[in-house]
Amino acid sequence: MGAALAERAKQSGALLGKARCEYRLLPAGRMLNRCEAGSLMPFQWTINPYRGCELGCHYCYARYTHEYLELDGRDFERLIFVKQFRKDLFERELRAVQPGEWIAIGTATDPYQPAERRYGVTRAVLEVLARQAGLRVALTTKSDLAARDAELLRRLAQRNDVRVNFTLTTLDAELARRLEPAAPRPDLRLRALRRLAEAGVETAVFASPVLPGINDGGGELEAVARAAREAGAKHFGAQMLFLRDPARRVFFEALEKDFPRLAARYRRLFARGARVDAALREALEARVALIREEMGFSRRPASCAAGWGQLALFEDAAPAPAGGSALIRLRAAVAEAAAAARV
Ligand code: SF4
Repeated sequence: MGAALAERAKQSGALLGKARCEYRLLPAGRMLNRCEAGSLMPFQWTINPYRGCELGCHYCYARYTHEYLELDGRDFERLIFVKQFRKDLFERELRAVQPGEWIAIGTATDPYQPAERRYGVTRAVLEVLARQAGLRVALTTKSDLAARDAELLRRLAQRNDVRVNFTLTTLDAELARRLEPAAPRPDLRLRALRRLAEAGVETAVFASPVLPGINDGGGELEAVARAAREAGAKHFGAQMLFLRDPARRVFFEALEKDFPRLAARYRRLFARGARVDAALREALEARVALIREEMGFSRRPASCAAGWGQLALFEDAAPAPAGGSALIRLRAAVAEAAAAARV
């Protein structure tokens, strides 16, 4: 499959060259992809209307997907492939989706990246989905362009289970620019989230990835969660940075340049692989559970998204019982986990 895809990529025609990137047309193929049997993902199907992502987050683990096209991971934000949309083919593909199965849009690229303004593939996909009933659809983005489709998403949500997840790693616009150079500002993402929530679309905020020493300071995660809640988000989650090549190479280069004092610490943190130690992850889980409980985020159970890094669509819902004593236990758990993580 990889070779066939690479061949199609080679045959793709240039659509547009911009200063920073080039768009190419990927001839019509599958729009809907089934997750492999036994996958740990909390969804069964994925849709990525584009290949590559112009938003160019330094920590983006999805760079490896460009290697399937026999391209370098560094080309991920420079060479964007626009998937040719065929309504008839897509409608036929949808017949394979069984009741209760989740379709995740934007698992490896942002469906509302700048290319969407020009090519509208995400909108075309949503138009077809909105004519269906009984689907479960989760879309993840960092872009305020999602607000353009508020009415369409509202329509989609009338007969389907829909959730739009915004990734918001920080409220600090300058820090966001350093981490996610071409992504819309945090306040614009929150404004778009509010627009969707007001239209009746269920929304979530994921403050992922959490980067030790960069966006996990005292109160930073809590401030993101508070802003999300105020904007109307029902769900909140955060996961630790997940780093494997080629993302690892790109991330460390950016780290050396922008946060040189942290480089040695990160080399230690990721010395044993793509994940930080379990103690750090557990401390974050406890902190997120407390945030959910204190700020009144939904505790609706959701599937586990172990290992899906910054693009996690769902997180464990931490089903803590409500009430004062539960909060005291959660706070104690946070303190204990934080102490264990201090090594
Ligand atoms: S993390 Fe998401 S928004 Fe950022 S470059 Fe990767 S796919 Fe695009």
